[in-house]
Amino acid sequence: MRLSQYPINTLKETPAEAEILSHQLMLRAGLIRRLAAGLYSWLPFGLRVLHKVEHIIREEMDRAGALELVMPVVQPAELWQESQRWREYGPELLRLKDRHERDFVLGPTHEEVITDIARRELKSYRQLPVNFYQIQTKFRDEVRPRFGVMRAREFIMKDAYSFHLDEASLGATYRVMAETYTRIFTRMGLSFRAVRADSGAIGGDVSQEFHVLAASGEDAIVFSDADDYAANLEAAATLPESAPPAAPREPLRRVSTPGARTIADVAALLGVAPTRCLKTLLVAGERDAVIALVLRGDHELNAVKAQKLPGVASPLRMASAAQVQAVSGTEPGYVGVQDLRCPVYADYAALALADFVCGANEKDLHLSGVNWGRDVPPPTAADLRKVVAGDPSPSGRGRLQLARGIEVGHIFQLGRKYSEPMNARVLDEAGRDVPLLMGCYGIGVTRVVAAAIEQNHDERGIIWPAPIAPFQVILVPLNLAKSARVREVSERLYTELLAAGIEVLCDDRDVRPGVKFADAELLGIPHRVVVAERGLEGGQLEYRQRRETTSREFPLAEALGFIRTRLQT
Ligand code: ATP
Ligand code: MG
Repeated sequence: MRLSQYPINTLKETPAEAEILSHQLMLRAGLIRRLAAGLYSWLPFGLRVLHKVEHIIREEMDRAGALELVMPVVQPAELWQESQRWREYGPELLRLKDRHERDFVLGPTHEEVITDIARRELKSYRQLPVNFYQIQTKFRDEVRPRFGVMRAREFIMKDAYSFHLDEASLGATYRVMAETYTRIFTRMGLSFRAVRADSGAIGGDVSQEFHVLAASGEDAIVFSDADDYAANLEAAATLPESAPPAAPREPLRRVSTPGARTIADVAALLGVAPTRCLKTLLVAGERDAVIALVLRGDHELNAVKAQKLPGVASPLRMASAAQVQAVSGTEPGYVGVQDLRCPVYADYAALALADFVCGANEKDLHLSGVNWGRDVPPPTAADLRKVVAGDPSPSGRGRLQLARGIEVGHIFQLGRKYSEPMNARVLDEAGRDVPLLMGCYGIGVTRVVAAAIEQNHDERGIIWPAPIAPFQVILVPLNLAKSARVREVSERLYTELLAAGIEVLCDDRDVRPGVKFADAELLGIPHRVVVAERGLEGGQLEYRQRRETTSREFPLAEALGFIRTRLQT
């Protein structure tokens, strides 16, 4: 493609509407344009990237034996009533009526439609297993559409749905899909993790999310530095300490701590590290009860874990001041771990301490040199805290690292959730009529493009991973209006590259070199070749890879071979 024939301008200024970098860069580079909230047009350059992403997904889904089809975006309400989601889905489901006053929805997803296909087409176990997929538009009336195509209202998803006779077959296809997603995101050149939605060290066999790692990601995730364990931060388990607490060395003392209510205050006042202090949080239990949760001073309570403990009210909330007084005899800030008139859970790390500091259940007083067993009976051990970087991985191998992620894919074993209410059944080997088992597997195709940019950019623009770049090479002739030689060489090279099947963009506009360089970097084309009068005098062209900061010369005579070699590295 020639830029002189391309009518869309890049933007120098950052559009005010765009909060995150990928959105800013997609607008500036002219990949997308906003039509209305959460609705975007894909302009030619953006569409080229989208097609690359779709192509990789399609190849890998086909390789995995999935069958492509396309289902309508507009779906009759009856199907949604059958699955109960007409009622359950809420305002994200856009409902509309046709001229006959019949109800329809704009499909936010396609479980109902595919289950309808399955119940009509699949009659026997002999037709199973089967995995159907489509790459299709979805509409979700998101409360807060934002970040451009990252959370849009209309977006493109690859969604696949598999059908099975038994759990073993569902599990097998689920694992094939997990491998396929790994191949897909690897081929796109993205750094990602498959994240378990559940907490266990083993497992992750019912649902997994695929996250592209990026500092701006909406989700906090953790992963092991030694194996493929990865989980949502909220779901990640901590392990009990392997060693018992050290033997007591200090005597138990009451220490005066006037006005010191926070761990930071107490630690500073007494000159001890927060890691040597305990904090006791009193939370609401069921039926007006109170439950004490004890954590090491530097650790944070994980609300998701806490509200799963027996007796703790869900959603989690703190006990009232009156309740605190009733169970501890003091006010918040001075509650300790001894003589509490309520059930007490202590986090594993809190139970591993010796000679620690905690509240004395008396205003302006703390205890130091406290030891479990000697001074206070150890309470029930529990996993209560948020993991931190450096914690041992629950998988038993390696240590945890924290990262942020963007959810680009989700695989899920649905079981009989749709087949039962919608009556999708087949005959098994024994001739019995049984409900189908189902799995579903989504990829946010348009979101992948934004996520790739979030992960790969610098202050000058996008840095496309080569497999999804709109073009591989950008040819930049300088001052071509003035130089016949530059014109002649760049034309020849452009034709040669095209003939060699290389995706090349030629910046043959009559604009200043600085403008061309800035646009080449903003557009993020992986390889840049400059044709300039000065170099040509010595028979040289200039090459730069998008991630590099310096250029190098190479002989014009070997241009095609040189560029081919660069494309392979
Ligand atoms: P999220 O938690 O981000 O809302 P979800 O759990 O609703 O995602 P799924 O229903 O599993 O998403 O959809 C499959 C994939 O579609 C997601 O992993 C995500 O990549 C993509 N996706 C979901 N909602 C949007 C949206 N509003 N805009 C763009 N992509 C989306
Ligand atoms: Mg959602």
